[in-house]
Amino acid sequence: MTSQQPFALKGAIIHTPTFDRFEYYTDAYLLCQNQKVLGIYEELPEQYQGIQVIDHTGNLIIPGMCDLHQHAPQYPFRGLGQNIEKPDWDSWFDLYAFPEESRYQDLSYAKKAYTKLVNDLLRTATTRVCTFATIHRPATELLMELLHQSGLCAYVGKVNMDRNSAPGLLETTEETLAETRLWLENCADKYPNVKPIVTPRYTPSCTDAAMEGLSALMNEFQVPVQSHLSEGPDEITWVHQLMPDIDFYGQAYDRFGMMGTTQPSLMAHCVFSKEEEIDMLCRNQVMIAHCPDANLNYSGTAAPILKYVRRGGRVGLGSDVAGGRTLNLFRIILEAIIASKVHWSYCERTGAPDEKRDVLTLANAFYLATKGGGAFWGKVGSFEPGYAFDAVVLDDSRITDFNERSVYERLERMINIGDDRETKEKYVNGRCVYRKGADSDHKEPA
Ligand code: FE
Repeated sequence: MTSQQPFALKGAIIHTPTFDRFEYYTDAYLLCQNQKVLGIYEELPEQYQGIQVIDHTGNLIIPGMCDLHQHAPQYPFRGLGQNIEKPDWDSWFDLYAFPEESRYQDLSYAKKAYTKLVNDLLRTATTRVCTFATIHRPATELLMELLHQSGLCAYVGKVNMDRNSAPGLLETTEETLAETRLWLENCADKYPNVKPIVTPRYTPSCTDAAMEGLSALMNEFQVPVQSHLSEGPDEITWVHQLMPDIDFYGQAYDRFGMMGTTQPSLMAHCVFSKEEEIDMLCRNQVMIAHCPDANLNYSGTAAPILKYVRRGGRVGLGSDVAGGRTLNLFRIILEAIIASKVHWSYCERTGAPDEKRDVLTLANAFYLATKGGGAFWGKVGSFEPGYAFDAVVLDDSRITDFNERSVYERLERMINIGDDRETKEKYVNGRCVYRKGADSDHKEPA
């Protein structure tokens, strides 16, 4: 089967064309043509009677999910360092993040670790990721090559750090800009589905000179930018010390054109954003990567994500591995719902203006994981006609019971207790990239 020929998946189809509601079909056909969704049909239209139908009757079919924030090199220590309370967050960097990231100077280690990550990603319901690599250009290029071979779609960032870093991870300003330029020259047009994204780690790790140079590269190569924004109070205080003339953290990026004014921008966390920062995020259509798993555990705080949505902001979900614990976006959907309840409860107790119960529904959170985050790529994350054909077939027989359940209930249970064991088949841009049990669970060749 080539991706140019129309074909159909048959099964129980569910998606969120709008933020507020699921649309689902108990038994229908999802048609693909030219890598795009042609539509959902309860009966095959006359002109498509002869096409290949891949029968998944009894299984669920959902749009592929988009993980907007993860740190690929931190995957080996996922699940560790999650319970450090004292001295503080710095020890997480010192004990785990920086020592692990420094290992990626060794390409053979990078190959082992990144291969494991990519193979594990293939088994999840995620079809697209935005990920930080490390400062190391060769290992970053290797990660891009591995993602390309997997068939997944990705934005990958060579990380920049020319101050406040750790031994083995500190570049000079000249080095970080020269290596970023070389990396962009090497990969800007190399892969159809794996693209570079300029990635200053965050303001404290990049001098103004580095940010100026990165901004110029971002515009020269016409690539987007990703970073961290307002994740914790200590970080915000530090940014104000480094840049005393700013009124809020977002201005530290905005003065270099990194808040959506020149190229698309993706900012992770946005937990403690001030009103002016929220206005800027929404006005400039900066994509917010909401990472509730990491936020709740790190700061015990929930980002006011519905406020962003209500103001017309763009929001998707991020695992933030390995500040977050899992690649499984089903867990992140649940955490997003819980985080919204924590936020509402806090507002109610403190008498804040948005005290009316306004929390994420399952449809809302599923939308953020699919169409919300998918918007960073364009028409992605929905089964509406013209959207990229990213589809995941889920076999929920392991977690089913002996009662008739609606498609909604089956998805609800999948999100609550399902994981990569349920992934049966996965398509990205109309191409099957994973089939359970095939080739040791690795990708299906094109
Ligand atoms: Fe992060």
